Amino acid sequence: MGVHIQVLRLFAVPPRLGLAALFLAAAIGAPPVLARAAAPLLPGPQAPDPVPVRLLDPPPAGSRNVGVVPGGVVRWAGEGITRCGDARETWAPLDGACLYPVDLGQEEGALEVYRDLGGRRETATLRVLPPSYAAEHLEVDPGKVRLSKKNRLRADREREVVVPLFSLRTNPAFSLPLGSPLEHAPPPRNFGTRRLFNGETRSAHGGADYRAPTGTPVLAAEEGLVVLAADHFFAGKNVFVDHGGGLLSMYMHLSRIDVRKGRRVKKGERLGLSGATGRVTGPHLHFGLRWRGAKVDPAPLLGDPAKLPSP
Ligand SMILES: [Zn+2]
Repeated sequence: MGVHIQVLRLFAVPPRLGLAALFLAAAIGAPPVLARAAAPLLPGPQAPDPVPVRLLDPPPAGSRNVGVVPGGVVRWAGEGITRCGDARETWAPLDGACLYPVDLGQEEGALEVYRDLGGRRETATLRVLPPSYAAEHLEVDPGKVRLSKKNRLRADREREVVVPLFSLRTNPAFSLPLGSPLEHAPPPRNFGTRRLFNGETRSAHGGADYRAPTGTPVLAAEEGLVVLAADHFFAGKNVFVDHGGGLLSMYMHLSRIDVRKGRRVKKGERLGLSGATGRVTGPHLHFGLRWRGAKVDPAPLLGDPAKLPSP
C-alpha cells in the first residue's frame, strides 16, 4: 500500500529504556505503520493494563521463585492442586498444574502467585525479568504512517469488538502442548520484537509470524469455539478461537476464512488459508495467543509443557 520500509539492522536496546518507550508508545496511541519484506507488521489490539508489580527485592531464603520473561508462561505442577491464583483472579488447574501467563508488557518486578492443595495454600514469586527480545529498526516515510480518519474510526470500532474477547473465561477444553497452526511449519519467529520506526519505539510484536505462501491451510491449535471470524483493518481476515480457561488463539492475514463465528472446531481443523490481508506487505501467518488477557509467546506452548519455567 505504498509505504516503504527498509529493515536496517537488528540490535538490542537497553531493556529498561526499551520497555519504558514501549509503554509510552502504547500510552500515546502511537500510529501503526506498514512494514515491508522481512517484517510484516501487525499492531494488535491494546493489552489490558499490566498487573502492577512490586520492586524486586532478593527473595527470602527458601521461598519458591522463578524467573520469567514478559510473554512467558510459568507452570507449577503438583499432586492434588484444587485451585490456582494471582492478584487478579483464580482458576482451575490444567492437567494437574497451575499455569501463570505473564503479559508481554509486564514490567520488571515480582508477581505473587499461589496454588491451593486441599485446605493448604502455597505461594511463589514470579521474578519478571527484563525483556530479552531483539529490536528491529525500520525506516519509514513519516508522511505515510498516519491513518485516515475513516480508517482510524474503523480500527477503533474493530478494537471494541476484539478487546472484550480477552475477558472470556469459559471452561477449559484444551491441554498442552498446543498444535502448530501450520503443517510442517518451522518454529515461529519474532514474538516480542520491539520495533523502532525512524528511531522511535512504536509497538512490540504481540504474536509469532510464520512464513507461508498464500493458500497454506491454517489449522486450529486446539479444540475450541470460533468467537470471531471477520475482516479487519489491521488483522485482515482473521479468526479467534476460544479454548476455554481464558486461552484464545488468533490467526491473522488469511486469504480465506472457512469457519463461522459460533462453530466448534477440533484440534487441527482447517480454519482458512494463509494470505496477506490487512496491513502487511508480504504473505505470512500471524499466530497470536492471549491467556487470561496476557499476550504470550506461542512457541514454548507448542513444545513439552514440562520445559516451561517452574518455581
Ligand atoms: Zn505478526
